[in-house]
Amino acid sequence: MITASSTKRRRLIVGNWKMNGNRHTNAELLARVSARWQGEHAAEVVVCPPYPYFQQAREMLGNSPVVLGAQSVSEHGSGAFTGEVSASMLADWHCKYVIIGHNERRRLQHETDVQVAQKFLAVQAAGLIPILCVGESLEMREEGRALEVIDRQLRAVIEQTGCAAFVNAVIAYEPVWAVGTGKTATPEQAQEVHHFIRTQLGNLGTQVRVLYGGSVKGHNAGQLFALADIDGALLGGASLDADEFLDICAAAD
Ligand code: PEP
Repeated sequence: MITASSTKRRRLIVGNWKMNGNRHTNAELLARVSARWQGEHAAEVVVCPPYPYFQQAREMLGNSPVVLGAQSVSEHGSGAFTGEVSASMLADWHCKYVIIGHNERRRLQHETDVQVAQKFLAVQAAGLIPILCVGESLEMREEGRALEVIDRQLRAVIEQTGCAAFVNAVIAYEPVWAVGTGKTATPEQAQEVHHFIRTQLGNLGTQVRVLYGGSVKGHNAGQLFALADIDGALLGGASLDADEFLDICAAAD
């Protein structure tokens, strides 16, 4: 089902480096990205390095319009939470976006829907923009329950925040079976879920940016971005390769 959405939304490409890189490899990657992504662009580009490299990323991005994002955040404001980072700390670094509810955090760190909703609120309270990840497992898709899962994950946040909070948020649809696997949702599968997400947001549905994530590469990005309800991509592996990353950014631009 391919449907058209009317409102113009700025395309967004977000590179989630996950727990990869070191000062040397980051320096090469950041130098190449910031050299080629200069001036004004229709698409907005974000890199999310691991926290210890925030300073390096800020310094090396220099005048490039590439902005800084974070991979996760604590739902708490401050206090005895060893190893955690608060949203106000990220704001101190002029971080603009924060990924929350990534499937690796839901699965490996056992983050619950309620916690994800609390993180969403903490990020917005600090003046930053949450990128809320939602997506179904292979099992759920095969049982024909993909939309049910997306609905539950979205509703858990909407119940805490109300739909209006999504004016200042981004949603990333990431089918778990497509993340890091080399499998991509078909255009029809992606478009169906993106359209569903918009309908769940009521009147705001056409205003909110909804990204696709799951093995997006230079060769398939154009086809995905051509779909009416896909506003860009959340990238894992492809964000670690400057050429691949920039090809995808160019496809969105
Ligand atoms: C991700 O981890 O959010 C992701 C989309 O990874 P990949 O692009 O490697 O599938």
